[in-house]
Amino acid sequence: MTARSVEQHAQHVAELLATLHERPAEEIPLGEALGRALAADVHSPVDLPLFRNSQMDGYAVDAASVASVPALLPVLGVIAAGPAGATTHTPGTAYRIMTGAPIPDGADAVVPVEDTEATDGQVRIERSRTAGEFVRERGSDVREGTLLLPAGSVLAARHIAVLAAVGLQRVPVRPRPRVAVITTGAELVDAGTALHAGQIYDSNGIALASSARANGAEVVSITRSGDDPAEFRTLLAEATTTADLVLTSGGVSMGDFEVVKETLTPLGAQFGHVAMQPGGPQGTAVVDGTPVLNFPGNPVSTLVSFEVFARPEIRRAAGLPPTESEELPLAAAVTSIPGKRQFLRARRTDAGVELVSGPGSHLVAAMAWADVLLDVPADVTALDAGQLVKVIPL
Ligand code: AMP
Ligand code: MG
Repeated sequence: MTARSVEQHAQHVAELLATLHERPAEEIPLGEALGRALAADVHSPVDLPLFRNSQMDGYAVDAASVASVPALLPVLGVIAAGPAGATTHTPGTAYRIMTGAPIPDGADAVVPVEDTEATDGQVRIERSRTAGEFVRERGSDVREGTLLLPAGSVLAARHIAVLAAVGLQRVPVRPRPRVAVITTGAELVDAGTALHAGQIYDSNGIALASSARANGAEVVSITRSGDDPAEFRTLLAEATTTADLVLTSGGVSMGDFEVVKETLTPLGAQFGHVAMQPGGPQGTAVVDGTPVLNFPGNPVSTLVSFEVFARPEIRRAAGLPPTESEELPLAAAVTSIPGKRQFLRARRTDAGVELVSGPGSHLVAAMAWADVLLDVPADVTALDAGQLVKVIPL
């Protein structure tokens, strides 16, 4: 791969990941659908409310019988919310009724209990009500056949609520792309392991997995290889059996033990430099039919690579809306290296966007303190205070 611009590499990655978008929709239980994107329009199979029912605890009456108050009405019975047979209203009488209970046929209003006084077998109505008051009509919320939620809706709790209310048990959703993560580096160990000299904790595995999940992917495995090509090749073969996309970190630059580069170059992978900072060294491959993105190992480079190249495609495959960049004023002047699109860690403040620490791609704490990437075009080397700049929300 010759040197590329970010835009060229993003285009190349998008083409490589076209397979992510080919997976068919799936039907899943409603209880597992939070955050998923509907794959089809959902129409209501029923009216809501399902039947005419009381909005209050009180007395079901006909408005004419309580037109002049106080009115004394015989109480024919009690109707609770729950399984019940049909009841019929007789003008001049009342049923005691609970919220959500079916209104007797012929009754047209409910007098809330607060406006009544029960006496032996009778109720004294203190306040008149007009027809329809405190009656929830069948279908007054939604009619059978009406579009409840359009395809593409990302299901929040309120969407799940209405789908449950109309009795749907399963919903059609976009599939979650299955992502496998492989980190590489002889220096890496798990948290909880005693550190020997020269060792560091592996942060990219969990970071890439979390990034993938946060954008709608299902993470099928997180594994780690030392700098031995055979070990990496074995892990990669395993990953490609279950994943739609494999993300790797490390081993792609110009050092002596670049395990990813060494292993994948003979398999037709492309490695090269993208005109960006951080994240310059990038690789792509297709292994056993599965696309593989090879990100550099510095923790900030890995995360920025994910944001710039993997995030848009994973979100699109999962049916999630793209992350929109924003234009905000800059708090203080910023300089940027020429010839490279720079993604600087920054945060929003009342004074505008300000940089968090320097451009070093090992500054993982500064990455955590940032809430945006300041996106500086390759041909821009200086930005002034107050100038509107493009930022990518993290
Ligand atoms: P590499 O891209 O393999 O040359 O790694 C670049 C830098 O990132 C080195 O300082 C590595 O120790 C560090 N690094 C690589 N992989 C990880 C990882 N999984 N977690 C944390 N740091 C890493
Ligand atoms: Mg390495």
